Order: sequence, then structure tokens, then C-alpha cells
Amino acid sequence: MKNIASEWGAVCQRMRQAEALYNREAGSVQLLAVSKTQSADKLASLADLGQQHFGENYLQEALAKQRPLQAYGLTWHFIGPIQSNKTQAIAEHFDWVHSVDRLKVAQRLSQYRQGLPALNVLLQVNISQESTKSGVSLAELPQLAQQVAQLPNLRLRGLMALPAPEADLQLARQAFAQLAQAQQQLRQQALPLDQLSMGMSADLEAAIAEGATWVRVGSALFGPRH
Ligand SMILES: *Cc1c(COP(=O)(O)O)cnc(C)c1O
Repeated sequence: MKNIASEWGAVCQRMRQAEALYNREAGSVQLLAVSKTQSADKLASLADLGQQHFGENYLQEALAKQRPLQAYGLTWHFIGPIQSNKTQAIAEHFDWVHSVDRLKVAQRLSQYRQGLPALNVLLQVNISQESTKSGVSLAELPQLAQQVAQLPNLRLRGLMALPAPEADLQLARQAFAQLAQAQQQLRQQALPLDQLSMGMSADLEAAIAEGATWVRVGSALFGPRH
């Protein structure tokens, strides 16, 4: 296994190079370290390097890692499918949720977030050729976005997508461009969205080219998952 510090450095360098290549402001893209299946020790190694934001897909696994890492003051993002019965714990233990795709889940997150700082929310959108069934369709997105924006205790920040991997840079960019365009249309409907969560280990450059503000990177940091 390679040294995690050099992997982290390499990912950060890819991000800065893509920002420069595609005329994005330096530092305008943030790294979300996707740490599902990784041990708390590995997360601590990244935190020691200065990594602040971590993304987790499974609630119980995330809670078990948050406890020993509490002293780091990390920022936790939930990025996995959300079951209704998990909404209370997600609302209480995360700072961001990237994977909201229906109103009922948003309502429950809002309810359980009462008394805490607003929960940052992104809507997961099922753009073309999506590999998962999660995500609101582009057709239903405008209505869901307007409804979620009205809920107290949530701050609707933007959109997330998980398109099928494309070996071809131009094809990958097309999928991300669709998400960026959907975001633009919502902004024209007076929704102040400022975040786009798109791009993973294999395609973060394409996502940065199309306006990603978060890239969600797992295997390029930690090696392949088992
Ligand atoms: C696992 C996962 C990632 C990271 O994927 P890699 O290809 O390992 O970088 C990103 N986003 C979501 C939603 C994931 O579940």
C-alpha cells in the first residue's frame, strides 16, 4: 500500500491543476474524502495532514468512526442512500447531506435538525445513464428544490450526481454539464445555490471543468475498496 500522504498530495495536485487548466479560481474546489469502509486510523492520518471534510455512506459505520475522531473537529458529509428511519441520526451527526432525493426525507431532516445550525443539503439528481436508482429526475427536480428550500433548519446549497463512469473525457463532461445546467436553471428561479458535488477518483478533472465545487474521492486516496 502506498503512503496515504503521497496519495492525498497527488489528489490535491490533480485538483489544483484542473482548476488552472479550466480557468477555475484557485482553491474553489474542495476535497471530500470518501471514507466508507476505511478505518478511523486512516481517517486520522488524513486529518493530521489537514483534511477537514469526510464523506460517509453508511450511518452506523460513520457513527462508530466519529466518536474516536471527535477531537479533530472534522466536518462530516452524508453521501449514501437515506432511509427514513435514519433521518434523526443523520440530522444530528452530520453537517452536510449530499443525497437528499425526496421530500419526505428532507422534511424529516428538517424536523430533527431543530435547535441546531442549519443542515447543508444538496439534492441528488439522476442524470442520464446513472448507475444507481437513487436521485430525483431532472423533470421533478424544480418542484423538489422549491419545496426543500422552504423547509426550516435546512439550507439548500446545490446538487449532487453520480453518473456512470465514462472513459472519454468529453462524454464525462457532458454528464456533469447537465447537472451544472440544472443548477443554473434553479438559480434563475431565485434559489441561491452555490455548490455542485460531482466527480470522483476517475473523473474529477471532467467535473472541475464543468464547475464542481466538491469532488468526492475515495479510492484515489485510500486505494481500492475490498
Ligand atoms: C464511494 C463513493 C465515492 C468515491 O468513489 P471513488 O471512485 O472511490 O473515488 C463518491 N461518491 C459516492 C456517492 C460514493 O458512494
